Amino acid sequence: MARYGMVINIDKCNGCYSCLLACKDEFVANDYLPFSASQPSDGKSWMKISERERGTCPKVKVDYIPLPCLHCDEASCVEASSNGAVYRRPDGIVLIDPEKSKGRKEIVSTCPHRVIQWNEEKGIPQKCTFCAHLLDQGWKEPRCVEACPSGALLFGDLDDPDSAISGLVNNSPVEEYHPEFGLKPNVLYLNLPKRFIAGEVLLKDRQDECAHGVKVTLSNGALEQICETDFLGDFEFRGLESNRSYTIYIAHEGYQKWELSVKPGKDLNLGEIILEPTG
Ligand code: SF4
Ligand code: SF4
Repeated sequence: MARYGMVINIDKCNGCYSCLLACKDEFVANDYLPFSASQPSDGKSWMKISERERGTCPKVKVDYIPLPCLHCDEASCVEASSNGAVYRRPDGIVLIDPEKSKGRKEIVSTCPHRVIQWNEEKGIPQKCTFCAHLLDQGWKEPRCVEACPSGALLFGDLDDPDSAISGLVNNSPVEEYHPEFGLKPNVLYLNLPKRFIAGEVLLKDRQDECAHGVKVTLSNGALEQICETDFLGDFEFRGLESNRSYTIYIAHEGYQKWELSVKPGKDLNLGEIILEPTG
């Protein structure tokens, strides 16, 4: 028996919404009973995509976070729903029974990720099914995965040691989305947005040139990262924890040492850092 899962690589997602449209194409006006009743054309999608803009001009990043149902091992929606209205199949897919869940609007609030939508017309809660009706016919992946042009979505059997997804999960720093919820999701993420600190280095006596190749060091005591400014004099440190303190220093030959301590509660653009010549 397979145990289905998905890995979503945020660095590969360009926010094209093809996954969302494929989901609508598959489910709007189509019943796949007993797994799902049709999705309304004007309602929210079963694949949510949130856009996150971070930093300040000119150091701005935009990330897109696709969020389907995460088909959790310890699903709060299953635990909170009586009479088998929400259930987990042996292959890990969590489904809402369209018959047993009729009129049960309270099921919508049992998911802390808010991926369960209320279908007003039919009076039922609904969400992503991993396209269970297609997998049962022999499809290898849901429609959203098939439609993604950038390979941001990888689907497969987490228990198959030879599957691409288990290789990725075992050899990459995959993460849970909101691990504090304790749901043990089978949809995992790569490259979820973390804090960054960026800046630009200028040499006071050579401000008509870009300060290329200046070594910038970031340290938090236990860990040290070093980067060099690029051809524009820019530098950037990524993947930082927001609850840690860091010291950034620049020791460039012929110039006075520059140092700053920061706690990146938000993404930081340090702006222009002007190094004074020694002597
Ligand atoms: S993501 Fe939410 S709706 Fe999906 S299985 Fe987990 S708790 Fe249930
Ligand atoms: S189809 Fe792929 S690239 Fe496009 S929004 Fe969905 S996950 Fe991102």
